Amino acid sequence: MKPDAASTLIHHDYQPPAGFAAPQVGVFKASTVLFPSVAAMRARDWRTKTGYTYGLHGTPTTFTLEERIAALEGGRHCQLVPSGLAAIALVDLALLAPGDEMLLPANVYGPSRELARTELARFGVTHRLYDPLDAQAFAGLLGARTKLVWLEAAGSVTMEFPDLRGLVAAARQRGVMTAIDNTWGAGLAFDAFALGIDIVVQALTKFPSGGGDVLMGSVTTRDDALNERIKLTHMHLGLGVAANDAESILRSLPSLPLRYRAHDAAARELASWLQGRPEVARVLHPALPSCPGHEHWRTLCTDAAGLFSVLFQERYAQTQVDTFVDALRLFGIGYSWAGPRSLAVPYDLGAMRPDGSLRGHLVRFSIGLEEAAVLRADLEQALRAAFS
Ligand SMILES: *Cc1c(COP(=O)(O)O)cnc(C)c1O
Repeated sequence: MKPDAASTLIHHDYQPPAGFAAPQVGVFKASTVLFPSVAAMRARDWRTKTGYTYGLHGTPTTFTLEERIAALEGGRHCQLVPSGLAAIALVDLALLAPGDEMLLPANVYGPSRELARTELARFGVTHRLYDPLDAQAFAGLLGARTKLVWLEAAGSVTMEFPDLRGLVAAARQRGVMTAIDNTWGAGLAFDAFALGIDIVVQALTKFPSGGGDVLMGSVTTRDDALNERIKLTHMHLGLGVAANDAESILRSLPSLPLRYRAHDAAARELASWLQGRPEVARVLHPALPSCPGHEHWRTLCTDAAGLFSVLFQERYAQTQVDTFVDALRLFGIGYSWAGPRSLAVPYDLGAMRPDGSLRGHLVRFSIGLEEAAVLRADLEQALRAAFS
């Protein structure tokens, strides 16, 4: 081998192209970012994000995605993390200390509650659950130790739309920080910051990606000091995202409103049709008057995500409901939502609603981008196969 083969391959003359004015964002990948001198290295502060210091702290690709998510949510600052769950964890770790209490809605995204029950409990942070439809009872739970309130609209399995205005007003009156899991609303269905919410989290894995092929989360804020706190914890934890993943989401963002409306329209058509089926006891979709919290949805939103749940008649056995899900040909059996492919998942209501307020066997549907009529024919044949 040539004695300088390695250095010849490493020290090339590449400069990013000047004058290449494509509106699409390039994929910039780096761990190392070079400084022209030691003085320049010392002068650049990695905390400000005004320049590049190290790949983990941002590249042109990730800075651009952060700016676009902040714009989508109506915020000013955004931190990207490797998953929606990591976004929730980042907020918890940035804001809570031993002795603090956090309030979670009873229908909270399950892994968020598990995080509270395990790691956060180990660090001396406690949590309690509240009924997202009862702002008055919620106000009574806010105490001197309450430092963070999580909101979620709508609940992603049981679909209750919370009394967001009432909950936020109560938390603000007590000076308690609020964070919302805005995955369902995707920054489109309602304006979380306009409601007075402090922190907006999204699983970009869902609508912003839209492809079912990327995992990512975002934490967006308006307040500079709050952002500083979250950003430092983000950096201390070594959270970063890959440029290829960021680029996939940047590519999907322009079609987000179109996709959101298409998922919504098909889901509403199928939800209404299922409501009229004899096998079905109840359809839970925030836009249907039969859904708990529908009145709150109506005052805040006209749009809805392509997500709903069906409660089958109690007289059916769980095995029949499982047969129905197995008989679906176009609906995949799998977690997540907002991808092109429709999905169906049976959930155990006993574990989610031990109070018995929802009865029957629940199946959660995520409507993809297939034609509604084709999905309806699939549902019809599976209902026939399982229940007749
Ligand atoms: C999927 C989801 C998350 C977590 O996102 P991941 O990227 O899968 O970790 C959080 N909240 C809600 C409501 C979700 O649906």
